[in-house]
Amino acid sequence: YQRLRLILGDQLNAAHRWFRKKDDRCLYLIAELLQETNYVRHHIQKLCAFFAAMASFADALKQSGHDVLYLTLDDTASFDDLPALLRHVTEKYGITDFEYQQPDEHRLQQQLLKPSLGSGITINRYESEHFMLPFDELESYFTPGKAVRMEAFYRKMRKRFDILMEGDQPAGGQWNFDSDNRQSLKKADLAEIPEPILFANPVTDILQRIERHQVAHFGVPTDPLIWPVTRKQSLQVLKHFCRYCLPSFGRFQDAMTADSDHRWSLYHSRLSFALNTKMLHPKQVIEAAIAAWQASPDTITIAQVEGFVRQVLGWREFVRGMYWANMPEYRSMNHFNARRTLPAFFWTGETHMRCLQQAVSQSLDFAYAHHIQRLMVAGNFCLLAGIDPDQVDEWYLGIYLDAIEWVELPNTRGMSQFGDGGLVASKPYAGSGNYINKMSDYCRGCHYNVKEKTTENACPLNSLYWHFMLRHRDQLAVNHRTGVVYKGWDKRSNDEQRAVLDRAEWCLENLDTL
Ligand code: FAD
Repeated sequence: YQRLRLILGDQLNAAHRWFRKKDDRCLYLIAELLQETNYVRHHIQKLCAFFAAMASFADALKQSGHDVLYLTLDDTASFDDLPALLRHVTEKYGITDFEYQQPDEHRLQQQLLKPSLGSGITINRYESEHFMLPFDELESYFTPGKAVRMEAFYRKMRKRFDILMEGDQPAGGQWNFDSDNRQSLKKADLAEIPEPILFANPVTDILQRIERHQVAHFGVPTDPLIWPVTRKQSLQVLKHFCRYCLPSFGRFQDAMTADSDHRWSLYHSRLSFALNTKMLHPKQVIEAAIAAWQASPDTITIAQVEGFVRQVLGWREFVRGMYWANMPEYRSMNHFNARRTLPAFFWTGETHMRCLQQAVSQSLDFAYAHHIQRLMVAGNFCLLAGIDPDQVDEWYLGIYLDAIEWVELPNTRGMSQFGDGGLVASKPYAGSGNYINKMSDYCRGCHYNVKEKTTENACPLNSLYWHFMLRHRDQLAVNHRTGVVYKGWDKRSNDEQRAVLDRAEWCLENLDTL
């Protein structure tokens, strides 16, 4: 072979220009790597899903006539890292041209910048052709250390790609339909929630390999695996979403319930893994949702489809831009100087707080939680309790099937922990038990009382919320979005204030027992 082309585990993009022509002198390399299994401790389903998707992609490429070298952990375990493996493969096959696609993670980009492959080897980088915004254009939208507002960025994207536009105006006359959305689920709504589409992908060999190489992992293993690992399965998830979930996607986007039984993903798409591995393209996903809306305007309103497009065209592209503009500094930002240890119940789900018990257990069971569970249950707790963002990131990066650093880090350290001091979010997403009670039925069966603040029985979030707001009063009082809450606090008597803070102090000293 003359040319070696590296395909990383999250670069399973069959539509990439590389694959348009067959070339007998070109060898594609897809490799399971120990370095990818242990840069953080991953959920077992995440390890299985990545390896299964990589292997299916290799098979599909072979079937369409390309030469593919698929290496399992058994083949690669003796190499220290990716560059060492690349040196070996280029030498073994007498390669003169090494090519790779722009990685989405800083860690891999660093490894591929100068992989020291021996003299005489030409190295070429290609665009990954996955995102709406080309990599090399990110700098014209994002500046290191500068806050960018998602809403402004999103509107630019809508205009630039002419998505949900009527001329230069937003379709439906509004950019944002959030006020129509954000409903909680009533008892009568529960029976209507569609069942998620699940697959039965065998992963026995992969599980054995993971054990054989003593890869550290956690979470509940499933064999077969329920997640999509091929393009065909990913398209089925997309179709299922457009048909059954999109009609209520926006409306119940922020809702949570403990009563949903097997319907744990509610009206969410569960497309993040398929998107992040590039089995699906964001444009394809956006177009499918818009086509479904246009075909059934009676069942799907614009508020639903706009809510979805906002996530994919807005948030997803936005966090990627923020990541690249601010790495590697972003990884160690800790605006509130949060230093507490993540409570052990994040790894077991064993807590009396029902909201956390639900969100964490579901994450351990399925390697999945929807956005509000991540932001306003697990994330909110860590923010209020002042958990070290390194530990928070480690948890999020490991537990979710869709967690890849470029998207996990700005969401976790930025949006949910405000560790970046407001680059991603204009205010900390802090809420008391009241928010959880409004958006979910979690509080109903909880050990704690959401209406109380100071008693032994009081929902810990209620006092922790005030402790957080007062710990950072200097900064938050001047923020016009958070400043108003102090008026209510200042009207309370000293005794009342003391009792709330005492309860919070007790909770902070006993986080593990909550
Ligand atoms: P849906 O609710 O159906 O949304 C549709 C799609 O929009 C998602 O598949 C996703 O691709 C995109 N999207 C929605 N919100 C965001 C967002 N804030 N940032 C980027 N894309 C978004 N998403 C990840 O893909 N990987 C992560 O590691 C990740 N970590 C997160 C950590 C925290 C603390 C928070 C608050 C959010 C995180 N998200 C992450 C964003 C979001 O929660 C998930 O994308 C979503 O829950 C995936 O489920 P879904 O496919 O059913 O999403």
